[in-house]
Amino acid sequence: MPPAPPSDRELDTYREQADRFIAELDEEFYLHYAGLKDTFDLTPIYERHKNLTELDQVQSIGLAVNGGARVRELWRFACEGYFGDLTRDHAEKVAELEAELSVTVNGDEIPYRMVRPALANEPDRDKRRELDTRANDVLDEHMNPLNLDAARVVQQGARDLGFANYLELYRKALPTSALDDLAEQCRYFLDSTENLYEDAADKLFRARVGVSLSEAQRWDVPRLFRAPEWDEMFPADRMVPALEKTLADLGIDLQSQENVTLDLDERPNKSPRAFCAPIEVPDRVVLVMQPIGGPDDWRALFHEGGHTEHFAHTSRDLSMEEKRLGDNAVTEGWAMLLQHLTDEPAWLTGMLDFARPSEYAVEGATGLLYFVRRYAAKLLYELEFHAAEDVTTMQARYAELLSDALKIEVTPANYLADIDSGFYVSSYLRSWAFEAQLRAYLKEKFGTRWFAARDAGFLLRELWGEGQRMRAEEMLKEVTGSTLDMEAVAERVREVLP
Ligand SMILES: [Zn+2]
Repeated sequence: MPPAPPSDRELDTYREQADRFIAELDEEFYLHYAGLKDTFDLTPIYERHKNLTELDQVQSIGLAVNGGARVRELWRFACEGYFGDLTRDHAEKVAELEAELSVTVNGDEIPYRMVRPALANEPDRDKRRELDTRANDVLDEHMNPLNLDAARVVQQGARDLGFANYLELYRKALPTSALDDLAEQCRYFLDSTENLYEDAADKLFRARVGVSLSEAQRWDVPRLFRAPEWDEMFPADRMVPALEKTLADLGIDLQSQENVTLDLDERPNKSPRAFCAPIEVPDRVVLVMQPIGGPDDWRALFHEGGHTEHFAHTSRDLSMEEKRLGDNAVTEGWAMLLQHLTDEPAWLTGMLDFARPSEYAVEGATGLLYFVRRYAAKLLYELEFHAAEDVTTMQARYAELLSDALKIEVTPANYLADIDSGFYVSSYLRSWAFEAQLRAYLKEKFGTRWFAARDAGFLLRELWGEGQRMRAEEMLKEVTGSTLDMEAVAERVREVLP
């Protein structure tokens, strides 16, 4: 019997259970990665809430999608859970392999997951090439068979839900501003920033790696962005005070926020990278970190600080969808707004005794351009990938699209692993535009030092109160009157690059 659409009451029950499911996942994630619990027990949580993502349930909610954003978000959540269930074994096995495999170069054994930092810290180019080649062999031989099977399972899953493919399903789950219209903007962005990127990347490659952009290879990229000379400018012991001071300038007393837990304790198994767990929105948001110092660590703390303040200020009165689901370009946008303070010269000089902040800002802008171009090409690729009959034919296309955007030959073997589920790539892309446009607005309204203006803080808190109720496009329109536009990122970068 075909499923019937759910009644309002059934939808409410579903909402409440989904709310508990997400809270339990966030709590487990927090406990494990904060080093408070050795095991990472997701299976019992998924078992307990199995009914949320069963085929009939997902199809039934699909029948209730009627143009309103809330039910559509609920259905998108159900679909993501359904695909997650189908590929959980694959994901677990890939994670296990990644954790146990290693590569050997010149007699040195390097764990697979340490390859990227090893590339960043290896000054010898030949050793980097060797390391990259070995790591790609491991990916191709061990992980890719699982990745390929997972991709096929997802394709079949989309057909079982009644769609021609995964892309068609997402054309119903997301507005066109998040997919096809955005792809149009990305094509334009890749075109309009091509010369700018070539010049900036060439300069940075020459300065950091000693090669031109045309000589640069993919194993030089992690080295390019690992600039140890800046490390001492970003000391570990000043990270948290800098976040506290920044928030205080905006009118927020981090230490006295009762719904924010700062987990700063040292524990042997604690994740070295900062993260935010919005366990209850807005009543229990945890910001976890272990200060190491260096620009990367500062960026991560401020990024997660942005998520934390967004969820901590979200209005209690919103619905589950508006608090926990919705357009992630919004929460990523708030995270980017705070993250990018750490390469803002006016902020750096005020917060740290920072020598050469403009030089540092140029590197930041070059990095931003690299990543946005990479994601723009990734969106174009993922749109083609998720409509392909036979995904193995997409390997060459992956290399073509990404290499063309970056002017560096990428690894074709990465064509399956370099895909974020649910077109999350769209959230990041739009969050960069959201940040660029909102920052321009804040500068115009509150001055270059907007981040130290009380009224800017008042506006931010008001907008954070909206949680995830509006899409990034809607919020930007309401606040600034303008349309979300990737070209704003190009303008932001041009402001800094000589
Ligand atoms: Zn984020």
